Amino acid sequence: MTSGPAVTEESGADSRTVGRRTARGQRSVEELVQRAQAGEPRAVARLISMVEDASPALREVAERLAPHTGHAQIIGITGSPGVGKSTSTAALVTALRQAGKRVGVLAVDPSSPFSGGALFGDRVRMQDHATDPEVYIRSMATRGHLGGLAWATPQALRVLDAARCDVIVIETVGVGQSEVDVAGLADTTLVLLAPGMGDGIQAAKAGILEIGDVYVVNKADRDGADQVVRDLRSVLNLGAKDGVWRPPIVKTVAQTGQGVDDVVEAIEKHRAQLDETGELTARRERRARREIEVIAVTTLRERFGDLGGHADLESLAAEVVAGRTDPYSAADRLLAAL
Ligand code: GDP
Repeated sequence: MTSGPAVTEESGADSRTVGRRTARGQRSVEELVQRAQAGEPRAVARLISMVEDASPALREVAERLAPHTGHAQIIGITGSPGVGKSTSTAALVTALRQAGKRVGVLAVDPSSPFSGGALFGDRVRMQDHATDPEVYIRSMATRGHLGGLAWATPQALRVLDAARCDVIVIETVGVGQSEVDVAGLADTTLVLLAPGMGDGIQAAKAGILEIGDVYVVNKADRDGADQVVRDLRSVLNLGAKDGVWRPPIVKTVAQTGQGVDDVVEAIEKHRAQLDETGELTARRERRARREIEVIAVTTLRERFGDLGGHADLESLAAEVVAGRTDPYSAADRLLAAL
């Protein structure tokens, strides 16, 4: 598989054509999924574009992908902007490739309505992997999506999973409250911190200390890295659960790759623990529950909009404002009309 700005941009246009074609016949979706399974990058790109564009063929895409999913290990990378996420992702991909893994990278920007290649244009380090046929890199913008990150991202993960990626790294690139969302999508969540960013206490405030399975103190070549490790350790110990997994703290210099093997090792240990305890299935079921919920709620919202006549949202709102009914009764009527 291959990717890069050119391929991704091109595939955006392609997806519209495919979307139309699939609306007419079922064949092409099936064919597309088969081609994606064979690792054909253009097919993968098209399928992800169909997810992003909420193509009418989405249901069929999801249906056909389903039997081919569940293989990939999903790793989430989160942390404040500038902490070294994209550099670390690139370093991690290098390490995973050396271990012979087929890797997918999904960079999600919840604050941007733009997707495709633009995002990766200035992310130079990823270009090391852009020509590797065993690496599939894709950015996704989720702003403006109904359901946003929660809705589109899991479907894109399914595409990469069906495309036989062994590992999928999902990283947020925008600023925002997306950390927790990404953690909800991953089997293993890496939380990145770095010295000089005031991360020690802020991390606790941001709530990321509950979501990390592995903590990475990046920029270990800089002063203050050991202090971050110490701060982190004391905060993590405070909140230590009696659960079996104690999140390790690993120091890295992402730019040189130093410590990245330790990160890979920590990920493997965590995975083994997930397998042993049955937590992997539990996490994935939690994820699926959320997915189903989001799709159901999104569908409901769409139907509310479509409701005509006596119980549409607009006329109910007018009745509530006029004091002719209360919002609870209005909601009951709305639901009853479905
Ligand atoms: P992101 O915003 O979290 O994705 O962070 P980036 O990966 O873009 O990195 C932010 C800046 O930190 C860039 O200028 C990197 O070159 C630099 N950087 C990343 N890792 C390290 C590191 O280990 N040591 C040092 N000194 N700089 C780093």
